Amino acid sequence: MIDNTGDNPWKRSQEQLKKIAKKTKLPELLLARLLEPDRTVLLSLPLELDSGEVRIFKGYRIQHNNILGPYKGGLRYHANVSMDEVRALSFWMTIKCAVVNVPFGGGKGGITVDPKALSEKELKALTYVFANRLAPVIGPEIDVPAPDVNTNGTIMGWLLEEYEKVTGKKSPAVITGKPVDQGGSEGRTEATGFGGGYVLENAIRKLGREGKQLTVAVQGFGNVGYFLAKYLFDHGFKVVAVSDSKEGIFVEEGLNPELTLECKRERGMLSGCYCIGSVCDLKGGKRITNEELLELDVDILVPAALENVINDINANKIRAKVVLEMANGTLTREADEILAKNKITVIPDILANSGGVCTSYFEWYQNMKVEHWTKEEVFDKLRKQMNQATEEVFDAQVEYKTGLRDAAYIVALKRIQKKWEEK
Ligand code: NAD
Repeated sequence: MIDNTGDNPWKRSQEQLKKIAKKTKLPELLLARLLEPDRTVLLSLPLELDSGEVRIFKGYRIQHNNILGPYKGGLRYHANVSMDEVRALSFWMTIKCAVVNVPFGGGKGGITVDPKALSEKELKALTYVFANRLAPVIGPEIDVPAPDVNTNGTIMGWLLEEYEKVTGKKSPAVITGKPVDQGGSEGRTEATGFGGGYVLENAIRKLGREGKQLTVAVQGFGNVGYFLAKYLFDHGFKVVAVSDSKEGIFVEEGLNPELTLECKRERGMLSGCYCIGSVCDLKGGKRITNEELLELDVDILVPAALENVINDINANKIRAKVVLEMANGTLTREADEILAKNKITVIPDILANSGGVCTSYFEWYQNMKVEHWTKEEVFDKLRKQMNQATEEVFDAQVEYKTGLRDAAYIVALKRIQKKWEEK
């Protein structure tokens, strides 16, 4: 979760916006619109627990902006979900969709709840109440939610069921991230990791670093970290370290992520899963902490787990030449400045992990047109879209003599401004 204590994410996102607006001379009226969400929905969600006790949960949907298209963004269930967090995330969705050039605006939502403390029956009932209250403000051409932290395809399936019940018509395009048999897209599971792989390959070429086998350390071995590691392994990179919430492993010769995942599933933990080639060589690697992983002397570091992991405490210890920011907000503002001073290239989250929302757009498009694309078609379209976005961000970096994060914001704001002026 974003740290809401010292570093308010909403204030941080507003500062970012004002800084870039100045650089691109954004019209004042458009800036005023982007500084606040179009609509803020606060929902009261009463639920009778299995014990008979009645509790009221708070639900949110923030529709930040729809200049480019319907509001788009995930729904997260977490005890720390707050209005400021959801607002900031909805703003970042506006920017992310614009960077990767999909015709969506930005939205985000969630419920302040610890889903692990609820039974499945309670979770389903809470999701039905949420969908019922959301129904009047969402729709395939209005606002299209998706899964986020602690929500998944099953929960999206429940939301869809209730939405269709309330509206009385079939509307698979109202939600993305659905299971494939309920209208989900092929390739969505791999999309964020693979999309990051496409961006990295392209960036490496632009930075003139291709040619030798580059070493990679990946923090977070979940959906994003695993598929990114697998893509890079399959495309000639040497993945020397991976970690989960408990521990990390380091294998100097390079590990095989697919075997490491299988091994972790069998053992229930990463330690000892030093899977080199097709065998697990217990002498071939060592256990490291998550902190040690971040400070490894590798070519590429990939934070793919949590926010704010690179901060003013460890930024000066980062030795990688390139940081591919796969989780959202992994660098604090101070860390961003320190890494820039140390000449470390940071490929920002709003570009690096936008393969997820790009494929969500593909899902929505297939639903709207009643089409079903193969995995190969999805990956082919995704690669083209990610390559185009990477080109534009690198071009803006040169034109505006700035870092890649600011360059990505510039690309996004220019696209939004163009559409806004056409309307
Ligand atoms: P996930 O739950 O599948 O995996 C998260 C991984 O991080 C797990 O391996 C977990 O063990 C590890 N982890 C948790 N706490 C940790 C800690 N303290 N230190 C090190 N590792 C820790 O989640 P995911 O879908 O892979 O998402 C990862 C990040 O990427 C999240 O921040 C998410 O918001 C962001 N993201 C995901 C997508 C997507 O399509 N899944 C898209 C954009 C952004």
